[in-house]
Amino acid sequence: MTQQTDVVVVGGGQAGLAAGYHLRRQGGLDFTVLDAEAAPGGSWQHMWDSLHLFSPAEHSSLPGRLMPAQAGETYPDAVHVVNYLTDYEKRYGLPVQRGTRVDAVRRDAGRLLIETDSGTWRARAVISATGTWSRPFLPAVPGREEFTGRQLHTVNYRWPTDFAGQRVIVVGGGNSGAQIAADLALDGRIEVTWVTQRPPRFLPDDIDGRALFDVATARRRALDAGHTDTGGVGSLGDIVAVPPVRAARDAGLLAARPMFARLAADGVRWADGSAVGADAVIWCTGFRPALSHLAPLDLRGPRGRIPTDGTRVLGEPQLHLLGYGDWTGPASATLIGVGRTARDAVREVTGLLT
Ligand code: FAD
Repeated sequence: MTQQTDVVVVGGGQAGLAAGYHLRRQGGLDFTVLDAEAAPGGSWQHMWDSLHLFSPAEHSSLPGRLMPAQAGETYPDAVHVVNYLTDYEKRYGLPVQRGTRVDAVRRDAGRLLIETDSGTWRARAVISATGTWSRPFLPAVPGREEFTGRQLHTVNYRWPTDFAGQRVIVVGGGNSGAQIAADLALDGRIEVTWVTQRPPRFLPDDIDGRALFDVATARRRALDAGHTDTGGVGSLGDIVAVPPVRAARDAGLLAARPMFARLAADGVRWADGSAVGADAVIWCTGFRPALSHLAPLDLRGPRGRIPTDGTRVLGEPQLHLLGYGDWTGPASATLIGVGRTARDAVREVTGLLT
């Protein structure tokens, strides 16, 4: 049987919950959040053990409820975030249906049909908030299939113990690469080679995630007003010097090498002929938006991206995209940043439907 509702939110991570909060607050629309996970917390459930937020708790909050501080930690860990999201969902009575994967969204006589692995919904609007975690990106590097060691992505990394006594190459000059390289190097039992496309750019030690949100917002405002692009967060640096990264860097354990030219069976090779043997390569090379459920709508523009105005999809005004990075709202892939973008998306949806 097809279930009818006004709005379906696809994805019940922080972005989906922020949308749910504003739908609840705005009132007047019936809605359901469909989430593939069995438990609350979105991708925070799968982060590695030592990961800590790059902002203090009060600067990592969704709308309506401050994240409480974590005892003994300035920067909370992922378990604390999962607990916060679990409580948030309960506190606002958000109607999240878990264990429900949306396979396809299709047009159907002026409505959108949402097909899942456990039933079909028919809605007047859809807010897609599926994140990026389920779409890890690996670059095409020659020899990747020749390498006989282990290859993992950020999403597969848990803790250094899995690599004790091994030689590990960590690829990637962003926060994940720096944090995982630091985690492994500080363990002391692992021979780590950190490889980055360009020399690592650490943000000044006194800048954390708090400043990043302000910079992202200022950039979006400047662009919207037709001013020159200041480069936003990227102009400050790529890596937040969270305490473990700072400790590893200051101990001289984070000296990066440039990107290698190829993988071989036993390790990696640079263009100048130098080589490093490896038992494992960890690709911290980012993510892409998880949007395959929208394929039937045929929305992609010439460069493969879905054209949007804010969160609204130009080719399908009943559809909004929320939380995929700076793409549809400043810092909207962050805990503190997604609230404002979610509010704007819900306002537009409400305006359309009421
Ligand atoms: P997710 O948390 O990934 O939630 C998406 C949900 O949608 C998941 O539950 C997923 O199962 C579900 N889903 C996906 N596809 C479907 C489908 N087809 N049908 C149904 N459900 C589906 N941000 C900060 O603010 N501070 C930080 O310190 C910080 N550190 C980060 C560190 C790392 C390593 C990474 C990767 C990100 C970090 N971020 C940080 C960024 C951001 O906060 C997280 O990526 C966050 O998880 C994004 O939330 P989301 O709701 O957009 O996506």
